[in-house]
Amino acid sequence: MAKKQFKTESKKLLDMMINSIYTHKEIFLRELLSNASDAIDKLYYRSLTDGDVQISKDNLEIKLSVDKENRILTVEDNGIGMTKQELENNLGTIAKSGSFEFKNENDKKEDVDIIGQFGVGFYSAFMVSDSISVLSRAYGSEQAYEWKSSGVDGYTVTEAQKDGCGTVITLHIKEDAENENYSEFLDKYRIRGLVKKYSDYLRYPIKMDMEKSVPKEGKEGEYETVVETQTLNSMIPIWKKQPSECTPEEYEGFYREKFFDYESPLKIIHAKFEGITSSDVLLFIPKHAPFDYYTKDFEKGLQLYSSGVLIMEKCADLLPDYFSFVRGVADSADLSLNISRETLQHDAQLKSMAKNIEKKIKNELVKMLENEREKYEEFFKVFGIQLKYGLYSDYGVHKDVLKDLILFISSAEKKYVSLKEYTSRMKQDQKKIYYAVGESVDKIDMLPQVDAVKDKGYEVLYLTDDVDEFALKMLMTYDDKEFANVCDGSVDLLSEQDKKDLEEENRQYEDMFKCMKDALGDSVSAVRFTKSLKNHPVCLVSEGDVSLGMEKVLEKMPEGASAPVKANAVLEINENHAIAVKLKELYGSDREKLSEYAKILYAQARLIGGMSVENPTELAGLICDLIS
Ligand code: ADP
Repeated sequence: MAKKQFKTESKKLLDMMINSIYTHKEIFLRELLSNASDAIDKLYYRSLTDGDVQISKDNLEIKLSVDKENRILTVEDNGIGMTKQELENNLGTIAKSGSFEFKNENDKKEDVDIIGQFGVGFYSAFMVSDSISVLSRAYGSEQAYEWKSSGVDGYTVTEAQKDGCGTVITLHIKEDAENENYSEFLDKYRIRGLVKKYSDYLRYPIKMDMEKSVPKEGKEGEYETVVETQTLNSMIPIWKKQPSECTPEEYEGFYREKFFDYESPLKIIHAKFEGITSSDVLLFIPKHAPFDYYTKDFEKGLQLYSSGVLIMEKCADLLPDYFSFVRGVADSADLSLNISRETLQHDAQLKSMAKNIEKKIKNELVKMLENEREKYEEFFKVFGIQLKYGLYSDYGVHKDVLKDLILFISSAEKKYVSLKEYTSRMKQDQKKIYYAVGESVDKIDMLPQVDAVKDKGYEVLYLTDDVDEFALKMLMTYDDKEFANVCDGSVDLLSEQDKKDLEEENRQYEDMFKCMKDALGDSVSAVRFTKSLKNHPVCLVSEGDVSLGMEKVLEKMPEGASAPVKANAVLEINENHAIAVKLKELYGSDREKLSEYAKILYAQARLIGGMSVENPTELAGLICDLIS
């Protein structure tokens, strides 16, 4: 019979498995057992939702058996089984689990790691087997089929006989090689150990016949071997166990397998809530964002169980948007099994669970921030932006949950600080929390206004994400201290005397500034002198609610182009700078030049502030005139 070929990608992965030098080959058993358990779950679930499906719940099980002599290990389940088509589709093609794409991206790196880090599924059995047979009969079908393969050269699917629905996977274990002991997978004690280590929580019994030595009846001192069928796993779902009973290995194995992550989680949160709605939750904060996290395709949610039975794959109502990165399971005996998506939303029990979960996540994050600073910063780099969006969204109703979780880089050490840290070290005479907005820390650091505030000995928060300033505006105050954009015209760091002098001088040159403003049209609402700039000639400040940074962000939004929201910009000129003298002189002698200079200075101020020049051609012309 002609062999069918694997799809190219599957072939590559298969090849990788067969020739794997990965040391944790043992994970193949976990993969097969979890497939078996999923298959039983599917059948069980179908029996709950479809009255025609009759199964006997007590018989659902997974069986392992070993034939040492013939080097055979089998994994058998009485789950939903596979049709001929499913055998072809599921085992002839690798499931699009993202694992392969990951490998391609990192082609140059060692294969070895990737194998261990991914739940690579069924194919991992080729790490320890030289041939594999999958005999399967789908629920509701009379005919069984057998899929067989000895590796990359292809597979066959033939008609076969099998009692009852389910799947039997038969592995022919490889011969031992120089550095490889494959025979360990034919040792029942070793197999039992692996089940305990990786699959203890599976909900169905994993059974195996174990030989046992017992005293011979009536014959003192003599022993005989009897065979006893043992259940190897405790079957308590990991989230139902006490945290003290769970090993980090168990948590991580569970996480990776369940959520298809190649990295271990950054944080594990295992909690039990008592009350009107009691529940067990096991939550994970991933180290990295899923590839679609910041797209609209991403679906948040926790797996929802009712007494160990899965009732919803992604229950969105259990997680607020700002904690949407959290993965995990929640299980409550107080939920009805037949709960539907519609009734769920109004379910008081679910709401109470969600509240507990939110509180717990928040507390854990606060603890992490206080006790595991490095880890928290690692977390914040990946998901901080989500928290900031949370602060801003829904008109700021979540600000109390989130205000202590956000961090900004600050001028003090160019390190992350929390608002609490910032306010706790504010100088005595400092009234406001200063911040500056820009594309990057380096660019913000070059802003003239930042210099001025730093000169006073005040710390400045550097806001580099689009959402940052909007979030702070929503927050309004922290610890009763207002926030102030250093580029806001109202920021006032001058002494009373300086203020008076400045006012006087601005009054004196009112006409000159009017002339400059006329040259600039609607781009600015005023031009004036400032005493706040040290060496810089000019800067732009804004007045009112919309800052220049916000204007920039709003412009980028889809609605921004049709109804632009403009900041009220003021061009400020350093009255200590030589340019001030020059302007005064031109005002007396050459108004036309004064207008041109106004345009050049305005363009400069925009560039310094990290904005683009509105009319680069005009600017180039003006500068050329000046040079020649
Ligand atoms: P994954 O489990 O990540 O989807 P696998 O390669 O392990 O990938 O399995 C591919 C698919 O084959 C599964 O999604 C499932 O549909 C099917 N499958 C595997 N093992 C079994 C089994 N024992 N019973 C029924 N279906 C199975």
